[in-house]
This record gives sequence, structure tokens and C-alpha cells, in this order.
Amino acid sequence: MRKSKKEKHADLLRAHGLKMTPKRLQLLSILARIKRPLSAHEILKNWSQDGTDVVTLYRALEALTAASIVRRVNLQHGHADYELVTPGKHHHHLVCTDCGTIENIKGCPGDRTEKSVLRKSTRFSSIREHSFEFFGTCRACAA
Ligand SMILES: [Zn+2]
Ligand SMILES: [Zn+2]
Ligand SMILES: [Zn+2]
Repeated sequence: MRKSKKEKHADLLRAHGLKMTPKRLQLLSILARIKRPLSAHEILKNWSQDGTDVVTLYRALEALTAASIVRRVNLQHGHADYELVTPGKHHHHLVCTDCGTIENIKGCPGDRTEKSVLRKSTRFSSIREHSFEFFGTCRACAA
């Protein structure tokens, strides 16, 4: 029998030693459905009738980010955006600075960069992760 999205999310929480709560499950289901980085405000807009408050939402986001289930992305919108982590895989984003359109970039250009950063470093012997995004103008805005 195939597991539902909800069961998979419950497993995910369990695997990271996090308590399964309806709010955490709903947060994961919103991020899984919309598939792009969302601000806390956008997450709240997609929350079902029963609602949640900002404080609870931020606590859930923090717990999931600390467990590496969710990743915090800085798209220079003046706030953090959040998206689901795909284990063993990550991607970067192209962001239109005029309209905010976001495109996921397949593949990571970072591995080579890490090597060259390490070569230039005098104090570091390893890099665990990196974070960078690309900013520009989308075709619709350029037209
Ligand atoms: Zn993304
Ligand atoms: Zn644009
Ligand atoms: Zn990367």
C-alpha cells in the first residue's frame, strides 16, 4: 500500500525525533503543495480554516529548520522564505528583482566553487554547505 503524503510527513517528523502535531503536518503539506519558497505570511494565507498564529508558525518553522526538514532561503525580500528539503539534493533560485518571480535552477553550480573557495582559504579545511541565490530580470519584466 502506498503511503499518503500525510503519512510520509508524519514519518519524516518521527525520523527527526520531532513530535507530530497537526500544525507541523499542515505546514509540511502547504510547503509540499506549493513547491516554491514561501514566506511566513504566504504560509498563513494558505492555512486552513482552523488557522494558526504567527508565533506558533515561527516555532514550527524553527523546529523544522533545525531538523533540516525545511530550509530557510534568503531571496532578499526583506524576510526569510522557507521550502522543503529534498534529502541528498538541493537547488538554487533565480529571482526577478522587479516582480519577485522565482525559478528553481536544476543542478548545483556550487561543488566546483567550494573547491576553489577552500583552495583560497587559509583557515578552513572543509565546507559543509553553501547558500546562494541569483537575482536578475525575468523575460516578462524585460519585455
Ligand atoms: Zn526552491
Ligand atoms: Zn519579473
Ligand atoms: Zn548548491
